Amino acid sequence: MTTTRFDVLIAGGGTMGTAAAWALSKRGVTVGVFEQFDHVNDLASHGGHTRIFRHAYSEGADYVPLMRRADQLWVELGELTGQEVVHRVGILEMDAPGGSHAKTARVAAQEHGIAYEWMTAGDIRKRWPAFNPPDDWEGGYSAIAGFLMVEPALRGMADLARQSGKATFFEQSPVTSYGAEGDGVWLESNGQRYEGDRLIVTGGAWSSGLLDGLSLPLTVVRKVLAWLEVKDPAPFQPDIFPVFAADTSDGEIYGFPIHGQAGLKIADHHGGTVTTPDEIDRYADSVESERVFDCLAYLLPGVTRNVLSASVCMYTRTPDEHFIIDRHPLHRQIAFACGFSGHGFKFATEIGEHLADLALKHDAVPYELFRYDRFI
Ligand SMILES: Cc1cc2nc3c(=O)[nH]c(=O)nc-3n(C[C@H](O)[C@H](O)[C@H](O)COP(=O)(O)OP(=O)(O)OC[C@H]3O[C@@H](n4cnc5c(N)ncnc54)[C@H](O)[C@@H]3O)c2cc1C
Repeated sequence: MTTTRFDVLIAGGGTMGTAAAWALSKRGVTVGVFEQFDHVNDLASHGGHTRIFRHAYSEGADYVPLMRRADQLWVELGELTGQEVVHRVGILEMDAPGGSHAKTARVAAQEHGIAYEWMTAGDIRKRWPAFNPPDDWEGGYSAIAGFLMVEPALRGMADLARQSGKATFFEQSPVTSYGAEGDGVWLESNGQRYEGDRLIVTGGAWSSGLLDGLSLPLTVVRKVLAWLEVKDPAPFQPDIFPVFAADTSDGEIYGFPIHGQAGLKIADHHGGTVTTPDEIDRYADSVESERVFDCLAYLLPGVTRNVLSASVCMYTRTPDEHFIIDRHPLHRQIAFACGFSGHGFKFATEIGEHLADLALKHDAVPYELFRYDRFI
């Protein structure tokens, strides 16, 4: 068996692995990225073309500085690649009575000085006639938010990493075993052995298996994205229709303006069937549950029940829905990131930098919020 050496090895070349490779390549170290499928694929957790990014973060104000840095890097990526990675169409977040998503986003906005326009249901209906929230709803609008394009983002980061001359992406290359040896690391893929100084494990929905010694509290959930036909496409165009999230008794429904393919892209952040990445039912021809249609019937009456296309993706949830990013408790030369709980993509560029720090700098400290030992 021949052995090849890189400064840093990355197991899992999806969202976070690719971002880490870009960050590491900027620091002049050599990187080998191992991806079991094609680089950018529909089988992992980055399928479905687009991802929402938002700064006034309802999941916790601690995320806001991370989003600010991630945003700078998304813009840098777009400038360096000449690709449209960022679409700053704004986000409208709405709470039905009892809902809290928009209210907690408003708190995060206030804490961090982010402009967040608070609106009544009447204000919303007037400004965006496509929306028809009931009178007892309210919501907030952030103009700096919007959506990211998955494929240009991941391909762009990989291209820049390769162009630096530092990074090699191995596709169709499952990592079948790995370990620590002395101060270094090794892994095997396709019958070859690779060695390095550091290893980063970013296995997405496969993380429980890839990090089986850690008993990670991860739950993989099947999620469905659907593109629904609209009666008239005009009010749903990106120049006049924002991304949106609605915290309702029918679920936390979110959606995007029409872009790149026919239909309004809709999903429900809540719910989903617990599964594994190897057993998941990958076929979908409708929305996740009937309650999505129930909500759309009153909230977006211009959207029909006609499903133009649908796809299946996976959330990898932690019990508190915060990420896990840390060094391996037994081997400091191994860092890992997983459990992105359906909201990690927007932070990928920043997390790539953080993983590069954890791998290369002895004194880099894992973020408190994402430490692995909070579950021990
Ligand atoms: C339906 C849906 C909607 C979402 N919407 C948003 C959103 O609007 N905004 C947002 O910020 N986030 C969103 N997310 C979440 C975001 O997409 C994920 O958090 C993010 O993509 C996770 O990145 P990851 O690197 O952990 O996983 P992935 O991107 O899946 O990468 C993991 C990679 O590891 C590879 N791998 C696993 N095991 C091995 C092995 N043994 N050897 C080699 N390779 C291996 C896999 O093939 C995969 O490519 C959404 C997710 C889903 C499913």
